[in-house]
Amino acid sequence: MRDITHFIDGASVAGTSGRYSDVFNPNTGEVQARVALASEAEVGQAVASAVRAQQTWALVNPQRRARVMFEFKRLVEANMDQLAEMLSSEHGKVIADSRGDVQRGLEVIEFACGIPHALKGEYTEGAGPGIDVYSMRQPLGVAAGITPFNFPAMIPMWMFGVAIAVGNSFILKPSEKDPSVPIRLAELMMEAGAPKGVLNVIHGDKAAVDAILDHPDIKAVSFVGSSDIASYVYSRGTAHGKRVQAMGGAKNHGIILPDADLEQATKDIIGAAYGSAGERCMALPVVVPVGKRTADEVRERVLAEIETLKVGVSTDAAAQYGPVVSAAHKQKVSDYIQMGVDEGAELVVDGRGFKLQGYENGFFIGPTLFDNVKPSMKTYQEEIFGPVLQIVRAETLEEAIALPSEHQYGNGVAIFTRNGRAAREFAARVNVGMVGINVPIPVPVAYHTFGGWKRSAFGDTNQHGMEGVKFYTKVKTVTARWPEGAVDDSAFVIPTMQ
Ligand code: NAD
Repeated sequence: MRDITHFIDGASVAGTSGRYSDVFNPNTGEVQARVALASEAEVGQAVASAVRAQQTWALVNPQRRARVMFEFKRLVEANMDQLAEMLSSEHGKVIADSRGDVQRGLEVIEFACGIPHALKGEYTEGAGPGIDVYSMRQPLGVAAGITPFNFPAMIPMWMFGVAIAVGNSFILKPSEKDPSVPIRLAELMMEAGAPKGVLNVIHGDKAAVDAILDHPDIKAVSFVGSSDIASYVYSRGTAHGKRVQAMGGAKNHGIILPDADLEQATKDIIGAAYGSAGERCMALPVVVPVGKRTADEVRERVLAEIETLKVGVSTDAAAQYGPVVSAAHKQKVSDYIQMGVDEGAELVVDGRGFKLQGYENGFFIGPTLFDNVKPSMKTYQEEIFGPVLQIVRAETLEEAIALPSEHQYGNGVAIFTRNGRAAREFAARVNVGMVGINVPIPVPVAYHTFGGWKRSAFGDTNQHGMEGVKFYTKVKTVTARWPEGAVDDSAFVIPTMQ
C-alpha cells in the first residue's frame, strides 16, 4: 500500500501518530493509498519549521517573493497534465474539471505575482506641521489553511498564494480524501525558490485541525468546508485570539424569469447543477422558474438535456461528470433523494440506480431531478452536494428574491433574464454574497474576492484579492516628524503632547 506522508521543512515526514485514512479511487471504489493523519507532534514540527522560515522569508523584498510566484506558476503549468490526472484519480472529477481546478488556483498566483503593488502602503504628507503619516502592511507570521475535498488545487492556492506572497509562512491541512495534489504543489513551490518551511503540508482530521487552532504561533487560520465545521473552527480559532475566516456550505439558487433565453439558461443550469457531480460550493442545485409556463418549459428542457448527459470515469474525455468522492458521500446523497421522496417532492429522474459498465463499484450517481420542491422541505433547506437538481416554482419576482434571501446559506445566486431593470433590482436586494446575472457560476476573478453570506461564511474577510491581502497582513501606521536643524533631543516633542 502506498503511503502519503506530510511535507515538513522541505521533506517527506511519515509522522508518528500511527493513524491513517484510506484514499480511494472513486472510479473503481478501490483503496489506492493511505494517508498519514497528523497528531499534535507533527503540527508542532511544522509550526517550528514555519516560524524559522518566516523570519528570513519576511525580509525577502516583495519583488523577489513575486518572482518565486512567477516561477511557481510556470512550474504548475508545466506539470498541469500530471496534476490534473492525480486530482481526478482521487477526487473523481473529469480531467477537464481538474485542469479548471488548477487553473482557477493559478489565477490567484497570478494576482500574487503583483504583490509589490498590493503591498504599497498609504502616505499623507503634511498631516500636521512637518508631520507625515504612512502605513505599511506587514505579514502576520505563520498562517494556516484547512481545505475541503472538492477543490484540492484551487482552494489551497487561494490561501497560500496570497499568504506567502505577502511574507508569511503557511501550513496547509488539506482534505484527507484527496491529499496528493497539495503535496505536489508544495514541492513545486520549493522548486520555484521558496525556502524550506515556507509551505508545509500536514494531513489529518479533527486532531490536526484542533492542534492548528490551539497553537499559539499560528496567527491566522483560513478554513473552507461545511458550515458546522466552519462555525466550530471560527469559534475555537478566535477564542485563541487568531484571525479566522471560515467559509461554509451552500445552496445556490438559479432564478429564471419568463423573458430569459430559456435554451441557454437551461444549458447553464445543467452544467452548474450536475458538473463535477454537484460537488461545488458554487453549484446551482436549486432552479426557481418564475411563472407556470416558464417552469413547465424549463422542466421539459432539463429533461431533454439529462437524456444527453454522459456520466463516466474521470478519464473519459466525453463524460460531463464522474463519480462522487466516496462511498459514504454516495450514501448520503442517496439518503437525501429518499428523504425528498418521503417529504412529498416529485422525483422526476432518479439517479440512484445508475451503474457504469465495468465500474460497478465506482461511486457513481446518475443525474437526479425533483420538481415541486417546497421551501419547508428539509431537502431544500440542507446542502446535498451531489448531482441532484430541485425545481422550486415561484409566482413572482418578489418570491424569487425571497427564496435565496431567506435561505440559511448565502454563497452564490444567479438570475437569468433579458430585463436589466429586474436583474439590477435582484442583485441589489438579494441577501447573498455572490451574484451572477446570466452567469450560472459567479465565482469572482482572482483580483476580486470570494465569499458568501449567512451560514456560508464566518468571519468578515473574503478569500483572495485585496481582502486576502488584508487577511494575511496587519497594518502599521507611522506618524513622523523630524526636528529641524542639528539633532537636538531637547527640541523634540511628541506631536500628541503639544
Ligand atoms: P468538511 O467540512 O467535511 O471538511 C473540510 C475540512 O475540515 C477538511 O480538511 C477536513 O479534514 C476537516 N474536518 C472534517 N471534520 C472535522 C472536524 N470534526 N473537526 C475539524 N475539522 C474537520 O468539508 P468537505 O466535505 O471536505 O467539503 C465539502 C464542503 O465544503 C461543502 O459543504 C461545500 O459547500 C463546502 N465548500 C465551501 C466553499 C466556500 O467557499 N464556501 C468552497 C468549497 C467547498
